Amino acid sequence: MNKVVFLDRDGTINVDKQYVYQIDNFEYLPGVVEALKIFQAKGYLLIIITSQSGIARGYFTENDYKKLDQWIKSDLESKKIHLTASYYCPHLPDALIPQYRMECRCRKPGLGLFERAVKEYEIDLRESYVIGDRLRDLQICNKGCKGFLVGNTEGSDIILEVKKGRYNGIKWCSNLLECANIVNNTICAVRGSKEHLT
Ligand SMILES: [Zn+2]
Repeated sequence: MNKVVFLDRDGTINVDKQYVYQIDNFEYLPGVVEALKIFQAKGYLLIIITSQSGIARGYFTENDYKKLDQWIKSDLESKKIHLTASYYCPHLPDALIPQYRMECRCRKPGLGLFERAVKEYEIDLRESYVIGDRLRDLQICNKGCKGFLVGNTEGSDIILEVKKGRYNGIKWCSNLLECANIVNNTICAVRGSKEHLT
């Protein structure tokens, strides 16, 4: 069985500039490269799971997505980081492009892509983590996966509830490197301390 870190893409790995599909527009968030190296060194596979509704909306094509995805893989490879896989959902119930118009199981919070990954890579969810900037990225925590919510994309009310430990033990971190340091046991993992409990 493998252990994995499931990673959301926009807002977690790279700056969310809204429907990013061009290489020139792809910018790693601070600490991401270092964080991925730590996860890798701890023996985790790295798998991106991303909803890309920009395809359904006609903002860019599936081919555009794949080109950027390939670039990310080779760029990380040049930094000695191996991305095991990336899975994406191009659908949307009210998509502009007819071929993508559907209620699918792969668009987050759906678990379709996670289930595929678990099967294809024999993943032990209890030993794995999922990291995203929205709660909808973290639904797999209902199946025993451990989770981190990163950054400030979610509202302060939700972040406060997460800090109190109200969502499946999901922890909040300001960025990916902080998550990696917790996984690496280099900083204290205890969250929801008294200062957060008003
Ligand atoms: Zn889908």
